[in-house]
Amino acid sequence: MGFCLTDKITVLKGIGEKTAVLFRRMGVETVEELLRFYPRDYDRIEEISRVAELRDNSRFVVRGTVCSGVSERKTGRLTLSVAQAADESGKLQLSFFNMPYIRGTLKKGAVYYFRGKVHRKGNGFTMEQPVLLSPAEYEKQRGKLLPVYPLTNGLNQKAVRKAVAQVLEAAKKEEGLVPEVLPSLIREEQGLCGVLEALSGIHFPEGQEEMIRAKKRLAFEEFLVFLLLIRKMKDSAEAVPNAFPMLETADTGRFLEGLPFRLTKDQEQVWRDILGDMTGSYTMNRLVQGDVGSGKTVLAALALLLTASNGYQGAMMAPTEVLAVQHFQTLQGYAKKYKLPLRPVLLTGSLSAKEKREVYEQIESGGCNLVVGTHALIQEKVNYHKLALVITDEQHRFGVRQREAFSRKGTGSEEEEKGQMPHVMVMSATPIPRTLAMILYGDLHVSVIRQLPTGRQAIKNCVVDTGWRSRAWRFLEKEIRAGRQAFVICPMIEASEESDLENVEEYTETLRANLPEDLRIEMLHGKMKPAEKNRLMDAFGAGMIDVLVSTTVIEVGVNIPNATVMMIENAERFGLAQLHQLRGRVGRGEYQSYCIFINGSESDKAKERLEVLNHSNDGFYIAEQDLKLRGPGDMFGVRQSGILNFRIADIYQDADMLMLADKACGEITAQEAWEEKPEYRELALLLQRSVRNNIDFPGI
Ligand code: ADP
Ligand code: MG
Repeated sequence: MGFCLTDKITVLKGIGEKTAVLFRRMGVETVEELLRFYPRDYDRIEEISRVAELRDNSRFVVRGTVCSGVSERKTGRLTLSVAQAADESGKLQLSFFNMPYIRGTLKKGAVYYFRGKVHRKGNGFTMEQPVLLSPAEYEKQRGKLLPVYPLTNGLNQKAVRKAVAQVLEAAKKEEGLVPEVLPSLIREEQGLCGVLEALSGIHFPEGQEEMIRAKKRLAFEEFLVFLLLIRKMKDSAEAVPNAFPMLETADTGRFLEGLPFRLTKDQEQVWRDILGDMTGSYTMNRLVQGDVGSGKTVLAALALLLTASNGYQGAMMAPTEVLAVQHFQTLQGYAKKYKLPLRPVLLTGSLSAKEKREVYEQIESGGCNLVVGTHALIQEKVNYHKLALVITDEQHRFGVRQREAFSRKGTGSEEEEKGQMPHVMVMSATPIPRTLAMILYGDLHVSVIRQLPTGRQAIKNCVVDTGWRSRAWRFLEKEIRAGRQAFVICPMIEASEESDLENVEEYTETLRANLPEDLRIEMLHGKMKPAEKNRLMDAFGAGMIDVLVSTTVIEVGVNIPNATVMMIENAERFGLAQLHQLRGRVGRGEYQSYCIFINGSESDKAKERLEVLNHSNDGFYIAEQDLKLRGPGDMFGVRQSGILNFRIADIYQDADMLMLADKACGEITAQEAWEEKPEYRELALLLQRSVRNNIDFPGI
């Protein structure tokens, strides 16, 4: 053996420089990182099904006899080989793409276990790309859970499995190779397993139960470290004297008078909270939580205006370029329309080097007093001038440390006086049940906007299966003819062999073929250049595009009041909270809006989950139902991608662990100088390491 956790993975057998490069792409450089590279799912071979039991769109194993020869068809570069197999209950078609050698393999009369996804074709079923297993191979795999890692091209599951197994083997032999960070007292109290058991249980579980046990322990550990980190931030942010005390000026009043609407009661209260903070004795540290469409942006505008009127600079950061540009335009529009003393600049990654230099110059000299942008705002090169307020929008998209880095921007360095801290405001639409929010938002004061502006009509929802698709398209057409616009969301960007999920590229083509030619249908996805994405969003915003087929890149924040239809394909693949965010893209204007969830699965469970959205437009209620509907068995089923992505823990599924970790965190930090006690040594070291390595946790 003779390696330790901090060694590069090239110390392992079978991993050379080339493979190491591939691992690095997934953030795995050291042995420790490899151990913490968790599977995204598990593969378990299905029990044998009879042909008569097959259902559309699911995976099965069928024990069948080959009952025909293999016929071959060529279309372009594609070779399609087709054969028939049967069991005593019926016949099944097998189809293979670009596997011409299958002709020599499949022998008429031979018995195989065929494993693959089946589709209904006419009266029967076709299994696509089946994997062929001998009876012995099938028996060997039965009942086992094989880890499936989130991989990059060029690396296969086998290679990762082998490497991980090697480390686990070594760890079992060599005590202390993988140190235990949880003191035994805590583990016993909470009934958690040890670190080795957890790691081997998460990578190579004997069965579901072991995997669940492992996940619980690892989730607890992750939460605990997160909470200890938050606690530190809280201690250092608490009661910092207000370095930028402000006075209320006439500008904010004038702005409010001029707006075409009146603030709702909740918005008014939040504005009073903000005003109280910024004019008060202590620096603001406030989270504004409000469901999608509740009107958070105008509150940000007010706070930024107050800052500018007092002669200071303010900055607002958004997670995507599309959203940053939109905020910039909104604020610039306000400044012009109401003659406000705001001089905004936009700073994003897609500016040219020259443009960036000019913007940096304006920021540093104080030529502008409002900076709007993306992550580019927290880069080292940006030096602010009297920065008194930083706002993070859609802050669940940023890490806790990014948020912290932003608030440090005014002070220059970590060590400098606390007295220079700018006011901090973060905005989020993540509806988190109150009990969990209290724990997760530990370092912030919270203002909540519960009511939506009046005059909004509730969005009408429907959950339907794929058979309804063409009717949904007709509906889109009808809305467009009435002058409205529509979004269609697909989970994937392009077609792939591994997935049957709808993809943006093909879907756009299909829509163009199925809707009248004069409708303007365009696509948008994350692989496009930022400038191209901006152009498309601008065109959509200006009404030059009727239907935008997109991945979830449009999920956060975008405001297009004329869009009234949100159609989501493979809705079963998204988390409820994420679907709710997507739905929030419509229903923002005066028109009746609609959300069509297309359920691509036949499972009752998927239907039950989606029905929650069908019956409620209340984000908090939805989050709570989501929590209730998930059992521990769903483990990796549906992740709320983009929302609170811890490495392994999921605040909804592992809510029990979050509460236990919170309790433990309280008990630990209540002890005088706990970091120096021997039982917490490894934990304190881990904490130091994660600070030093800049390991981030999701913002909430
Ligand atoms: P979110 O909270 O999701 O960020 P936005 O700030 O984008 O929501 O607001 C959504 C829309 O509601 C915007 O067009 C905004 O101008 C409008 N709006 C905000 N507050 C009010 C209000 N009190 N009355 C009517 N419309 C409002
Ligand atoms: Mg917003």
